[in-house]
Amino acid sequence: MERYFELKGKRQLDYISSQGCRFRCAFCADPFVYSRQWVALPPERVVDDLSSLHGRYGFTDVNFQDETFFTQRERHRRRSPKGSWSANLGITWAGTMRADQGARLSETVVAQCRKSGLRRVLMGVESGSPEMLSRISKDTSTEQVFDSAGKMLRHGIRRAVPVSSSASRGRATPSVQASLAVAHAIALG
Ligand code: SF4
Repeated sequence: MERYFELKGKRQLDYISSQGCRFRCAFCADPFVYSRQWVALPPERVVDDLSSLHGRYGFTDVNFQDETFFTQRERHRRRSPKGSWSANLGITWAGTMRADQGARLSETVVAQCRKSGLRRVLMGVESGSPEMLSRISKDTSTEQVFDSAGKMLRHGIRRAVPVSSSASRGRATPSVQASLAVAHAIALG
């Protein structure tokens, strides 16, 4: 593990607490691989695992590599039955999020996540164009993107918001221009 941390340049543990995804993005292999099913370890098991691994390896950050970490709101409450396990261990964490999931989270839950050490969410925006979002069956909207991004910003949580792009004959298509506009607006807060 020391070599692993050394190569990463930080004492960060990668951990997967759930498998699969219920969504149907047309560009993604997951809907075919997992038949749009999602299964997860019980939150109590995740806390036990990470507490035990922390005792052995002394990491300072956990990167949840789940496809969509914020699939179930209830898991966040159950993960911290007696205060925040991660805050108690003094570690930070990062997770993956869809825009619709972030939009559904209450300010209270986001504040709890921040307090427990959530430092960054990775939110696949993909496109700023409603037409393109429909074409790729993303099932999210730019309104949800702005809602989620704003919520994270208000609570001091960093946002990584990948967008896809392509050009036609060296010129940005309207879809790319819309994506750049969304990325620019998020960057400006
Ligand atoms: S939400 Fe993410 S993991 Fe799920 S289908 Fe879409 S891109 Fe794939």
